[in-house]
Order: sequence, then C-alpha cells, then structure tokens
Amino acid sequence: MAVFLAVLASGGWRWLSLSKPTPTASKRYENCSRKESLVITIPAPRTISADRRRTLYFNAQRHFLTVSDDLHTTFSFDREGRLLGAFLDGINYRRGLCGDILMKRVGVAEGKLRRMLTPDERRQLLSLVGAHLVTFREYARHAAGVEVCAWLDRALTWDVARLEAEREAFYSIYKPISILPPDQYLSLVLQAAEGCSWNRCTFCSLYRDRRFRIKSPAEFRHHVQQVKAFIGAGISLRRSIFLGDANALIIPQPRLRELLAIVHDEFPLGVPGGMKGVYAFLDIFGAEQKTRDEYREMRDAQVKRVYLGLESGDEQVFRLLNKPGSPAACIEAVRTIKAAGINVGIILLAGAGGTRLASAHVARSLDALAAMNLSDGDLVYVSPLIVSPDSPYMQSLREAQSEPLDAAAARKQLERLKSGARSVCGSGVKAALYHLEEFIY
Ligand code: SF4
Repeated sequence: MAVFLAVLASGGWRWLSLSKPTPTASKRYENCSRKESLVITIPAPRTISADRRRTLYFNAQRHFLTVSDDLHTTFSFDREGRLLGAFLDGINYRRGLCGDILMKRVGVAEGKLRRMLTPDERRQLLSLVGAHLVTFREYARHAAGVEVCAWLDRALTWDVARLEAEREAFYSIYKPISILPPDQYLSLVLQAAEGCSWNRCTFCSLYRDRRFRIKSPAEFRHHVQQVKAFIGAGISLRRSIFLGDANALIIPQPRLRELLAIVHDEFPLGVPGGMKGVYAFLDIFGAEQKTRDEYREMRDAQVKRVYLGLESGDEQVFRLLNKPGSPAACIEAVRTIKAAGINVGIILLAGAGGTRLASAHVARSLDALAAMNLSDGDLVYVSPLIVSPDSPYMQSLREAQSEPLDAAAARKQLERLKSGARSVCGSGVKAALYHLEEFIY
C-alpha cells in the first residue's frame, strides 16, 4: 500500500510520502515541512482553488486507488482505472459495473435518499470526475510514485464516452443483475442460469423481464470468458463468485457439476489469493430439493453459503406472498444444507402480511429461525417490503383483510425482526438490513 499526501500551503504544494511508516519516512515528513527545496510551486489547477490550505491524499491499495481532496471530495478507481465511487458535497455515489450510478444522501427528511442518477446527471458527474483527474494527475507527477501515476493515467483513459459505451458491452454479456445479498455486492456474478424458475411471488418483480433458463456448459464457459475479458484487471476487487440468477442451485446436479467445474477451470478457488468460494440463492423449497450428499458435493466444490428467501415463518403470510414450498420445507432445506457443511443466509421481509398478520409474522419468523439451528458464519437479513400499489401482493393483502404497515410501524417491525433474530440465533450469527435500494452491480 502506498499513501501520498500533498499539502497546499499559501502559494505552493508540499508533497509528503507516507508510504512507509518508518523513521526514514517520518524524517522526510519533518524535512519536508522545513526545507524549501521540497516545496513544489505550480499554478493552482482549474478545479482546485488555492485560496486556502488543503491536502490531497493518494491511497493505492492492492485492489483500488482512492484520491481525496481535503477528505471532502473522494474518488476511487479499480485496477483498470474505472470509477468505483465518489463522495462529493456530502453525497455518496457508487458506480456499478453496469454503468449506472447510485446516489445516496444521508441527513435528509426521509433519513436517507437513494436513487439512480438520470443519464444526464450521470454524464455530468463523470465529466466532473474527469476534470478532477486531470488535476490530480498534474500534481501526482511531482511526488506520487510510478504506480499511482500509472493508475491515474489508466483512469484518464475512461472518459465519459468510454464509460457510457461500456454499458452496452455489459448488457451484451449479462442479463440485468437484479439483486445480490449485501455481503456479495463485490462478488463476481456468473449467470449459470437466467431468471427465476418460479417467478410467481406476489411481491417480487425482479425477474419478470426474462424467461428462466439454464445455460449449457459451452454457453456458460463462453459467458465466463466474456466476463473475465470485460472486467479485466478490475477482477482483483472481486473476492467471490456468485452463481446467478435467482435459483441457480436448483440446476439438476449433473449439469450443476459441469458448470461448477468450469468455474474451477477459470478461477483459482479456495486457495490463497484466489476467490473465497461460490455463493448462490435458493428459493425453491420442495420437489427440486437436493440431498445432503449433493450439498456435500457442492461444499467440496467450494460452495460456501446459500441464501434462502424465507420471507416469513408464518404459513398465512407465506401463502399471501405466494412463495414456493412452505416455511417447514425451508427449515428442512436449511438443516440439510447446514448438515452438509455449507452456511446459509436467511432473508426475512419486514412488513409482509400487513397490519392484521404483523404479530404472527414476527413470532413465527423468529420461531422458524430458532428451528434452523443457525451457527457461526450464517446470516439473517431483514429486508423492508417494497411493492408498487398495483402489485399482486396488494390484491392478496386486501383479500386477507389486512393493510400495509405505515412507515413507522414498518421500521419498528424491521428492528424487532433484527433484534429478535440476534437473540434467537446467538452471537455468531449476524443480523443486518438488506435494502433493495442500496443495490447496484
Ligand atoms: S422465488 Fe425468489 S426470485 Fe423467484 S419470484 Fe419468488 S422471491 Fe422472486
């Protein structure tokens, strides 16, 4: 890791290398503040006003570069030089591989404001980043190391036109990545299957745009190779494989075996410096269930965690959501998966069932978690229910003579589910928020 720091004092910049916290480095720091010969005086760049003392930080980590101007404005880039994120005027921006940019502002009346930038806003932001980069590169040549300079040069090749063109390339390789569990936002998604084999839950429209299909080994290998070429050196940021889309693990075992073998051919898995393992959703609790031996085979193929959308442990709420299977079948599936040595992530839906079923939803969901015997490495996610007024879920809710929770009651239920999960599952199991609007890939 190398950290470079530039201080703009009145009329000039002092560059301090903090890459090695050794006595030598400290000495350089002291000398730098005293010796005129180490002060670099160059005209202030267009994008940075020199009317006050300010500091630039260049932080080259193994997988990303961060450049910060006075810690108020920060940009990060992957090893290819693609923009990963920015912090500007108190607003966070995250750019996905798909080219969209998600903005998140805290401290507004609603608590948090999250939304995707419009195309015009996106291009404006990218162009602003480009202007800052020109400035950063200009100063970096005086003090930052060769690595940082080369990294900034790569970032400069990603102008607005190139970044925008990349969107098309992304969608020629991927169907939209609709959602991932929060701990997998930085995984490398490989779409072994597309869509959801059920696709009929009343509250879920994530995969309505596509037909479910399983890729052939040849097609999957081609997809994997395209993904690798697309992401390039940026792959270093991705530490795990997520097998898409919604129900990849229901792929019949012989085909799944072949597809996992391709993943192993293409990536080092479960070895130092390699990918940590394979992760996937499973949302069918019934006839398609696999046996403990089949899960053991997956464990041996480095499948580390399976995410199951229980949503509710209450039968009536479960039916209202039109989930496949039943809470009991989900508990059974979790026990089988865990007995094979694979961790699970259980997803609950805060607000499901509305006012009339709220107490039963919370109580039975916590009962279901308790019955799963979760342990270290397992996760519980609580996701706020987000549906449009015309969704089939709203119709089902009316038929059940229930109503949506208001915002305060929904927040309270979310907190009750999270704290209840912590208390029934024990300290080794993390319970966290899973907000659909936080996701970008
Ligand atoms: S099974 Fe999962 S992905 Fe499929 S429709 Fe239901 S919630 Fe959505």
